[in-house]
Amino acid sequence: MLRGDAAVAPRILAVVNQKGGVGKTTTTINLATALAACQKKVLVIDLDPQGNASTGLGVPRKNRDEDSYSVLIGASAIADATLETEVPRLSIVPSSQDLSGAEIELVTIEDREFRLREALVRHMAPGTNTYDYILIDCPPSLGLLTLNALVAADAVLVPLQCEFYALEGLSQLMRTVERVRTAFNPDLEIQGVVLTMFDRRNNLSLAVAEDVREHFGDKVYRTVIPRNVRVSEAPSHGLPVIVYDMRCTGSQAYIHLASEVMKRERSIAA
Ligand code: ADP
Ligand code: MG
Repeated sequence: MLRGDAAVAPRILAVVNQKGGVGKTTTTINLATALAACQKKVLVIDLDPQGNASTGLGVPRKNRDEDSYSVLIGASAIADATLETEVPRLSIVPSSQDLSGAEIELVTIEDREFRLREALVRHMAPGTNTYDYILIDCPPSLGLLTLNALVAADAVLVPLQCEFYALEGLSQLMRTVERVRTAFNPDLEIQGVVLTMFDRRNNLSLAVAEDVREHFGDKVYRTVIPRNVRVSEAPSHGLPVIVYDMRCTGSQAYIHLASEVMKRERSIAA
């Protein structure tokens, strides 16, 4: 519904899983970087009060005066809260500690589920959008912040860690998506499920991957993100792993994921 002009409308993806530590932020940062490397203009919106995406993309804390919180409460326009990153074509609306109170503060605000969507609509007045993709990094909950992302998004991208409890909680996530479709955003799609931190020497990883594919069929990307130490080192340098070490297996996987994401877009459009 955000698509005023199909030729210039961005694809808005919410990166969601209510579990922490499953690879949401890592996927947001690196998919965004890989898309930018493919000449796409990309905006990351950091919607997690922990601000890991902001840190991982090298935004110093002192530069977070205008942030996703000020956007949600209507104090800042998206454009004013947007910062360039070291990665060409990749920008970010950072988050700050202020966002941690937002779940509670927003409850009393009118249209509380629509705050992000409305900010994006304002940003995309006809002819003004410059982004091909907007990726929203969500906090590890299905609260009001994640709800704002789901209401604003065209589609949901779910990172799943290859471990025993991976599928647990997923039915709750799917019920939330269904509820958002019914109440707020009928066109919300499942973009896909990406398996993260895969360890091919681990039988459990293999079993979980098989289970997830049985469950979600071709919604599961063929690209699987391996567990790779370079991926976990990169954020402490404020760099996406693709910039930190482009040749490592983690970077290569995210580059493959980006091409799958773009291909899927084309097949949806066809
Ligand atoms: P979430 O945003 O879902 O909480 P993160 O993306 O922050 O999850 O990942 C959780 C932790 O796992 C981080 O320390 C991150 O660096 C690490 N991590 C994520 N993906 C990988 C990977 N493919 N290989 C190794 N470590 C990873
Ligand atoms: Mg995170």
